[in-house]
Amino acid sequence: MNRKRFLKTTVLAGIGSQLQLSSEFINFFNSKDITVENLLGLSQSHLKSEFILLEEETYQAFCLMKAEALKEDIALKIVSGYRSFERQKEIWEWKFKHFVETKTPAEAISEIMTYSSIPGTSRHHWGTDIDLIDESVLAPGGDLLLREHYHGDAAFSKMKTWMKTHSSDFGFELVYTRDERRTGFNYEPWHYTYAPKAKTYLKLQSRNKYRKAWNKLEFEGKSYMSDSFMDSYFRNYGLGINPSLMPS
Ligand SMILES: [Zn+2]
Repeated sequence: MNRKRFLKTTVLAGIGSQLQLSSEFINFFNSKDITVENLLGLSQSHLKSEFILLEEETYQAFCLMKAEALKEDIALKIVSGYRSFERQKEIWEWKFKHFVETKTPAEAISEIMTYSSIPGTSRHHWGTDIDLIDESVLAPGGDLLLREHYHGDAAFSKMKTWMKTHSSDFGFELVYTRDERRTGFNYEPWHYTYAPKAKTYLKLQSRNKYRKAWNKLEFEGKSYMSDSFMDSYFRNYGLGINPSLMPS
Protein backbone atom coordinates (compact mmCIF):
# COMPACT_ATOMS: atom_id res chain seq x y z
CA MET A 1 0.00 0.00 0.00
CA ASN A 2 1.47 3.39 -0.87
CA ARG A 3 1.83 6.04 1.80
CA LYS A 4 -1.07 8.25 0.68
CA ARG A 5 -3.43 5.29 0.51
CA PHE A 6 -2.21 4.04 3.88
CA LEU A 7 -2.70 7.44 5.47
CA LYS A 8 -6.19 7.71 4.03
CA THR A 9 -7.05 4.30 5.46
CA THR A 10 -5.48 5.14 8.80
CA VAL A 11 -7.32 8.47 9.04
CA LEU A 12 -10.62 6.77 8.24
CA ALA A 13 -9.91 4.09 10.81
CA GLY A 14 -9.12 6.87 13.31
CA ILE A 15 -12.45 8.56 12.62
CA GLY A 16 -14.19 5.18 12.99
CA SER A 17 -12.68 4.52 16.39
CA GLN A 18 -13.61 8.05 17.55
CA LEU A 19 -17.24 7.51 16.55
CA GLN A 20 -17.21 4.21 18.38
CA LEU A 21 -15.78 5.90 21.47
CA SER A 22 -18.32 8.69 21.50
CA SER A 23 -21.14 6.14 21.66
CA GLU A 24 -19.29 4.50 24.53
CA PHE A 25 -19.28 7.80 26.45
CA ILE A 26 -22.83 6.86 27.40
CA ASN A 27 -21.25 4.16 29.52
CA PHE A 28 -18.59 6.62 30.71
CA PHE A 29 -15.45 4.60 31.26
CA ASN A 30 -16.91 1.23 30.44
CA SER A 31 -15.08 1.54 27.13
CA LYS A 32 -12.85 -1.42 26.41
CA ASP A 33 -10.38 1.04 24.92
CA ILE A 34 -9.68 3.51 27.71
CA THR A 35 -10.06 3.18 31.48
CA VAL A 36 -9.68 5.71 34.31
CA GLU A 37 -6.47 3.88 35.27
CA ASN A 38 -5.10 4.48 31.75
CA LEU A 39 -5.69 8.22 32.16
CA LEU A 40 -4.06 8.30 35.59
CA GLY A 41 -0.92 6.39 34.58
CA LEU A 42 -1.91 3.44 36.79
CA SER A 43 -2.37 0.84 34.04
CA GLN A 44 -0.54 -0.11 30.87
CA SER A 45 -3.42 -1.99 29.22
CA HIS A 46 -3.67 0.64 26.43
CA LEU A 47 -0.01 0.35 25.49
CA LYS A 48 2.01 -1.62 23.03
CA SER A 49 5.55 -2.48 23.95
CA GLU A 50 8.25 -2.77 21.32
CA PHE A 51 11.23 -0.46 21.62
CA ILE A 52 9.32 1.98 23.83
CA LEU A 53 5.94 1.96 25.58
CA LEU A 54 3.31 3.82 23.55
CA GLU A 55 -0.44 3.75 23.03
CA GLU A 56 -1.12 1.20 20.30
CA GLU A 57 -2.25 3.47 17.40
CA THR A 58 0.35 6.05 18.39
CA TYR A 59 3.05 3.41 18.12
CA GLN A 60 1.95 2.42 14.60
CA ALA A 61 1.77 6.03 13.40
CA PHE A 62 5.15 6.81 14.94
CA CYS A 63 6.80 3.86 13.13
CA LEU A 64 5.52 5.21 9.79
CA MET A 65 6.73 8.73 10.56
CA LYS A 66 10.13 7.45 11.73
CA ALA A 67 10.60 5.52 8.46
CA GLU A 68 9.70 8.60 6.39
CA ALA A 69 12.05 10.87 8.37
CA LEU A 70 14.90 8.39 7.91
CA LYS A 71 14.73 9.02 4.14
CA GLU A 72 15.93 12.55 4.96
CA ASP A 73 18.59 11.19 7.34
CA ILE A 74 16.65 12.24 10.41
CA ALA A 75 16.56 9.57 13.10
CA LEU A 76 13.56 10.34 15.30
CA LYS A 77 14.16 9.10 18.80
CA ILE A 78 11.65 9.17 21.64
CA VAL A 79 13.36 10.09 24.89
CA SER A 80 10.10 10.00 26.82
CA GLY A 81 6.88 8.25 25.77
CA TYR A 82 4.52 6.66 28.27
CA ARG A 83 5.18 7.72 31.84
CA SER A 84 3.53 6.00 34.82
CA PHE A 85 1.90 7.78 37.76
CA GLU A 86 4.72 6.47 39.98
CA ARG A 87 7.38 8.03 37.74
CA GLN A 88 5.53 11.37 37.50
CA LYS A 89 5.12 11.28 41.29
CA GLU A 90 8.88 10.76 41.70
CA ILE A 91 9.68 13.71 39.42
CA TRP A 92 7.08 15.91 41.14
CA GLU A 93 8.09 15.03 44.70
CA TRP A 94 11.79 15.47 43.97
CA LYS A 95 11.10 19.02 42.73
CA PHE A 96 8.61 19.77 45.52
CA LYS A 97 11.04 18.80 48.27
CA HIS A 98 13.77 20.85 46.60
CA PHE A 99 11.63 23.99 46.10
CA VAL A 100 9.97 24.03 49.54
CA GLU A 101 13.38 24.52 51.11
CA THR A 102 13.23 28.15 49.95
CA LYS A 103 9.60 28.76 48.95
CA THR A 104 6.09 28.36 50.34
CA PRO A 105 4.29 25.17 49.19
CA ALA A 106 2.04 27.24 46.88
CA GLU A 107 5.06 28.94 45.30
CA ALA A 108 6.81 25.57 44.93
CA ILE A 109 3.78 24.08 43.15
CA SER A 110 3.53 27.03 40.81
CA GLU A 111 7.27 26.77 40.02
CA ILE A 112 7.09 23.03 39.26
CA MET A 113 4.13 23.64 36.97
CA THR A 114 6.28 25.68 34.59
CA TYR A 115 7.21 22.39 32.90
CA SER A 116 5.93 19.45 34.97
CA SER A 117 2.40 18.14 35.22
CA ILE A 118 0.69 17.29 38.47
CA PRO A 119 0.88 13.48 38.96
CA GLY A 120 -2.16 11.72 37.51
CA THR A 121 -2.76 14.52 34.97
CA SER A 122 0.22 14.17 32.60
CA ARG A 123 -0.43 13.65 28.90
CA HIS A 124 2.50 11.21 29.04
CA HIS A 125 0.26 8.85 31.07
CA TRP A 126 -1.84 8.40 27.92
CA GLY A 127 0.99 6.93 25.83
CA THR A 128 0.01 9.32 23.02
CA ASP A 129 2.64 11.96 23.79
CA ILE A 130 6.35 11.84 23.00
CA ASP A 131 9.45 13.93 23.62
CA LEU A 132 11.65 13.79 20.52
CA ILE A 133 15.28 14.23 19.58
CA ASP A 134 17.24 13.42 16.41
CA GLU A 135 19.60 10.52 17.00
CA SER A 136 21.48 11.08 13.73
CA VAL A 137 23.31 14.14 15.04
CA LEU A 138 25.89 14.49 17.76
CA ALA A 139 23.88 15.10 20.91
CA PRO A 140 24.65 18.30 22.78
CA GLY A 141 26.07 17.82 26.26
CA GLY A 142 23.83 18.06 29.31
CA ASP A 143 20.05 18.20 29.19
CA LEU A 144 18.78 17.33 25.69
CA LEU A 145 15.33 18.84 26.11
CA LEU A 146 16.26 22.51 25.98
CA ARG A 147 14.69 25.03 23.61
CA GLU A 148 18.04 26.23 22.27
CA HIS A 149 18.73 22.75 20.81
CA TYR A 150 15.71 23.03 18.48
CA HIS A 151 16.23 26.38 16.78
CA GLY A 152 18.77 28.17 14.57
CA ASP A 153 21.87 26.05 13.82
CA ALA A 154 21.30 23.75 16.79
CA ALA A 155 21.46 19.96 16.81
CA PHE A 156 17.75 19.21 16.49
CA SER A 157 16.77 22.12 14.20
CA LYS A 158 16.66 19.98 11.04
CA MET A 159 14.34 17.53 12.78
CA LYS A 160 12.16 20.38 14.07
CA THR A 161 11.82 21.86 10.55
CA TRP A 162 11.00 18.43 9.09
CA MET A 163 8.37 17.83 11.79
CA LYS A 164 6.78 21.21 11.11
CA THR A 165 6.15 20.22 7.48
CA HIS A 166 5.43 16.50 7.83
CA SER A 167 4.30 15.49 11.33
CA SER A 168 0.61 16.33 10.68
CA ASP A 169 0.57 13.80 7.80
CA PHE A 170 1.08 11.14 10.45
CA GLY A 171 -1.27 12.66 13.05
CA PHE A 172 1.41 14.23 15.26
CA GLU A 173 1.14 17.83 16.51
CA LEU A 174 3.16 20.08 18.80
CA VAL A 175 1.28 20.49 22.10
CA TYR A 176 2.93 23.36 23.97
CA THR A 177 3.40 25.82 21.12
CA ARG A 178 5.30 29.10 21.10
CA ASP A 179 2.20 31.27 21.27
CA GLU A 180 2.05 34.26 23.59
CA ARG A 181 -1.70 33.83 24.06
CA ARG A 182 -1.40 30.23 25.21
CA THR A 183 -1.74 29.61 28.98
CA GLY A 184 -0.16 26.78 31.01
CA PHE A 185 3.15 25.05 30.44
CA ASN A 186 6.07 26.77 28.77
CA TYR A 187 6.93 26.25 25.10
CA GLU A 188 8.23 22.70 24.48
CA PRO A 189 9.59 22.23 20.93
CA TRP A 190 10.24 18.53 21.67
CA HIS A 191 6.77 17.46 22.86
CA TYR A 192 4.40 16.00 20.23
CA THR A 193 1.10 14.18 20.55
CA TYR A 194 -0.74 11.72 18.36
CA ALA A 195 -3.83 13.90 17.91
CA PRO A 196 -6.46 11.36 16.75
CA LYS A 197 -6.14 9.43 20.00
CA ALA A 198 -5.06 12.18 22.41
CA LYS A 199 -8.20 14.23 21.74
CA THR A 200 -10.26 11.37 23.14
CA TYR A 201 -8.09 11.12 26.25
CA LEU A 202 -8.41 14.85 26.84
CA LYS A 203 -12.18 14.62 26.55
CA LEU A 204 -12.32 11.77 29.07
CA GLN A 205 -10.16 13.81 31.44
CA SER A 206 -13.02 16.29 31.85
CA ARG A 207 -15.39 13.65 33.23
CA ASN A 208 -16.38 13.52 36.92
CA LYS A 209 -15.37 9.90 37.20
CA TYR A 210 -11.79 10.83 36.30
CA ARG A 211 -11.70 13.73 38.80
CA LYS A 212 -13.08 11.52 41.58
CA ALA A 213 -10.39 8.92 40.89
CA TRP A 214 -7.70 11.61 40.75
CA ASN A 215 -8.88 12.96 44.16
CA LYS A 216 -7.93 9.63 45.73
CA LEU A 217 -4.30 9.73 44.57
CA GLU A 218 -1.58 10.59 47.08
CA PHE A 219 1.62 12.58 46.61
CA GLU A 220 3.57 15.38 48.31
CA GLY A 221 1.96 18.80 48.01
CA LYS A 222 -1.49 17.49 47.07
CA SER A 223 -3.06 18.79 50.29
CA TYR A 224 -2.46 22.34 48.96
CA MET A 225 -4.56 21.69 45.84
CA SER A 226 -8.18 22.70 46.43
CA ASP A 227 -11.02 21.84 44.04
CA SER A 228 -11.01 25.37 42.66
CA PHE A 229 -7.22 25.25 42.21
CA MET A 230 -7.63 22.02 40.21
CA ASP A 231 -10.49 23.49 38.15
CA SER A 232 -8.22 26.36 37.22
CA TYR A 233 -5.30 23.96 36.56
CA PHE A 234 -7.30 21.83 34.13
CA ARG A 235 -8.64 24.96 32.40
CA ASN A 236 -5.33 26.81 32.07
CA TYR A 237 -2.80 23.96 31.83
CA GLY A 238 -4.79 20.95 30.60
CA LEU A 239 -6.46 23.07 27.93
CA GLY A 240 -3.54 25.49 27.47
CA ILE A 241 -2.48 23.67 24.33
CA ASN A 242 -2.30 23.93 20.55
CA PRO A 243 -5.95 24.79 19.63
CA SER A 244 -6.00 22.06 16.97
CA LEU A 245 -5.83 19.49 19.78
CA MET A 246 -9.02 20.54 21.53
CA PRO A 247 -11.67 17.82 21.44
CA SER A 248 -14.71 18.67 19.34
ZN1 LIG B 1 6.82 15.74 27.16
